[in-house]
This record gives sequence, structure tokens and C-alpha cells, in this order.
Amino acid sequence: MYCLKAIVIGAGIGGLTTGIALQKAGYQVEIYDRVRELRPIGSGISLWSNGVKVLNHLGLGEKLAAIGGQMNYMEYRHLSGNILNHISLQPLIDAVGQRPYPVARRDLQNVLLEAFQSVGGKLTLGSKCIGVIEGFSDVTAKFEDGSVAKGDVLVAADGIRSLLRQYVLNESIEPKYAGYVNWNGLVPMSSALAPVDTWSIYVGEHKRASVMPVSGDRFYFFFDVSLSQGTVNDCTNYKQELKHHFQGWAESVQLLINQIEPETVARLEINDVGPLTKLVKGRVALLGDAAHATCPDLGQGGCQAIEDGWVLANYLISTNLSVPDALRRYEAERKVRTTEIVNKARNRAEVIHGKDPEITEQWYQQLSQESPLDVTKAIAKIISGGPLH
Ligand SMILES: Cc1cc2nc3c(=O)[nH]c(=O)nc-3n(C[C@H](O)[C@H](O)[C@H](O)COP(=O)(O)OP(=O)(O)OC[C@H]3O[C@@H](n4cnc5c(N)ncnc54)[C@H](O)[C@@H]3O)c2cc1C
Repeated sequence: MYCLKAIVIGAGIGGLTTGIALQKAGYQVEIYDRVRELRPIGSGISLWSNGVKVLNHLGLGEKLAAIGGQMNYMEYRHLSGNILNHISLQPLIDAVGQRPYPVARRDLQNVLLEAFQSVGGKLTLGSKCIGVIEGFSDVTAKFEDGSVAKGDVLVAADGIRSLLRQYVLNESIEPKYAGYVNWNGLVPMSSALAPVDTWSIYVGEHKRASVMPVSGDRFYFFFDVSLSQGTVNDCTNYKQELKHHFQGWAESVQLLINQIEPETVARLEINDVGPLTKLVKGRVALLGDAAHATCPDLGQGGCQAIEDGWVLANYLISTNLSVPDALRRYEAERKVRTTEIVNKARNRAEVIHGKDPEITEQWYQQLSQESPLDVTKAIAKIISGGPLH
């Protein structure tokens, strides 16, 4: 029997999820990544229930539960430490049928990689894709070392600075700076920092400091500060920078800054991409951040990459007109969903980070007055827009 072959460029969350879904559906999948060693950028990620449901469906539920932190509550605190809002996540879990899991990125990558390889997927590292050539009935990826890989479909999951995006769009689209810098990492969990079953978020001065529980008795932490583009990124400076930006914030925030190990911290300027007018061309589909990098202020970028992989695989295996036809169906469905997410996340980033200081001030006021049920309803609405309700 002829087995359809998929070439996937990029072994991030999107590429690996797509690889698992297609390989399980009977495709022969080859993933290529330019790096020689897979190392996720950043330390943690919150997998909201829409992403978790897809991974459950791919048979990863138990493994995910094992690496997921027990996040039962969310709380917003004023920079002084005073609680603005304490939110139980149980109504959200009851509404959508699955708890969210904050996870360490490396743990998630291990789970996805192991799953991909255990179903027979092939991963090649050190292979930088430099272009594609489409034939009438196939598509070929070209690599920097002169090698090529031919398949029936090519998935460009090559991240926010996607090289293949230009091929699909016939134009170059650069990521757009969201106006703030994010530091993130992992520290040992301790109730001196925050309640251990709670996602705690300190807000003020258009900045955020936050911790959330992941497995292994660790907190994933992040700090966000509105800064102009191009500030110096020097790891030996991180503690000093954070002490400067968070001067006068609560005792537990100071404790967190003192505990971080700068050489393990990621410092990133936050950008987004899109919404794009096109996600596919012929036999080539953009997926994940290559198609719609979102500001992380909704915690949905990785979840959208996971949804993409699921939807793409479903159209490829459940329709039989042609590969380009299945890709057009994927594009039609995913453009609607991801346009909404990219716009919502950008809007939220602007509210949180003081694009209009008056609106940010109103948001601070709203945080203390908002009913916890309204907060979980709003999150449930985003989750329920995913392909698995
Ligand atoms: C600070 C921060 C916090 C976030 N928090 C969350 C969160 O809480 N929840 C959430 O769901 N999302 C979150 N996100 C978003 C999430 O990290 C991304 O959406 C997700 O990692 C995108 O996965 P991807 O597979 O599309 O791309 P990537 O993970 O970027 O993978 C792309 C891969 O392609 C490879 N590659 C690139 N170019 C080539 C080439 N030419 N040839 C071969 N290989 C190539 C790269 O080496 C890389 O391995 C956050 C993002 C940031 C920055």
C-alpha cells in the first residue's frame, strides 16, 4: 500500500504535534530541524485545556498529567502584595472538562519527542531548510547542506521567524514588537514565594511578576517590563535589571529575584505575527508560530500550534479530493480561530503593558472588582473555540 509522506520543517510544539497526529494516522512523517540539539527557548508554558484535549486525544493524557503542575487557583496581586482577586479554576475545569497544565518546556518537548519517535516518526537534526520546490504531485524541501526531502505535503512549522512564510505569502512579513521584554525561568517551589497550587500574578507600573507551579516541585516564573526595542541582553545583568525594575514590589517578588539563576533564565523581546491573509500554498502549510505568533498574554500560542496540528491532520486523513484541497480546508478553519486569538492577545498585551496608561489603570481597578466566575467564563470561552469541545 502507498503510504503518504509528510515533510515537517521544525521540531517545536507545532511540528512535533503534527508529526504525532499524522504518523498515527498512517502517514510516513519526517521532521527536520536546523538545530543540532533540541533546546526549547524559555522555561515553562501553560497548556490550557484546549491544547491538553488534543494531546489527550493523541494518547498523551497520562504523560501530560505527570508533568503538569497542580494549578487550582489564579490570584492577582497589587505590586505591594495585596490580593486583588482570588479565582478558583474549578468552575473552568467543570465547564470545559479538562484541567489546564502548566509545564516545564523541556518536559513537554521530551513527551512530544518520545511520542513521535515511538510511533515510527523520523527526526533529523542539523538540517536547515532553505527553500521548497513544488511539483504537480509532490513537494521537495531543500536543505543548506545540499540534501533534499520529497513528500506529498510539507508543513512549515519553522517558528516566528519562518523562512518558508515568504514562500507561502509571496512577501516577507517581519514579527512586530509588542513593546515589552519577558524574563522567564524555573525556581524551586516554596510557599514563601507564593501558594504552591496557585498561579500568582503581581501587577503594577505596566509590569508583571508571576509564578505558576510545574511538576518536580518547581515554579515557572516570569517578569514582564515595557521597554523600547533593542535594550542590552546581558545575562550577568539580569538580577540587577530585575531589582531595578521591581524596586519597591512585595517581599516575595524580591525573594524570587534573589533566587533566580541568571544563566538559566531566558530574556526575550516579545513579538507577534499576523493575522496573515494566507496560511497555505499548494502542498505547503504554515503552522504554529510561522502562521500566527501571538503575544503570550493569553497563554495560547503553543495551544494554537497544537490545535493546528490536529486540524491539519484531520483534513488530510478525512478528505480525499487532493492534498491542496485538504490544506485549503485547514486554512479556512484555522484563519478564523487564530485571527481572533492573535488580535485578542495583542489587545491584552497592550492593556497589560500600558500602551494607553489610562486603560491599564482601569484594568487594575477592574481586577479587584471582577467576579472570579466572569474571569473563568472568559477563559472557558477561548478554550471552547478549539477543535475539541
Ligand atoms: C515568553 C513566552 C511565553 C509563552 N507562554 C505560552 C503559554 O503559556 N502557553 C502557550 O500555549 N504558548 C505560550 N507561548 C507561545 C509558544 O511558546 C509558541 O507559540 C510555541 O512554542 C510555537 O511553537 P512552534 O512549534 O510553532 O515554533 P517553535 O517552537 O519556534 O519551533 C520552530 C522550530 O523550527 C526550527 N526551524 C526554524 N527555522 C528552520 C529552518 N529553516 N529549517 C529547519 N528548522 C527550522 C527551529 O529550530 C525550532 O525548533 C509563549 C511564548 C513566549 C515567547
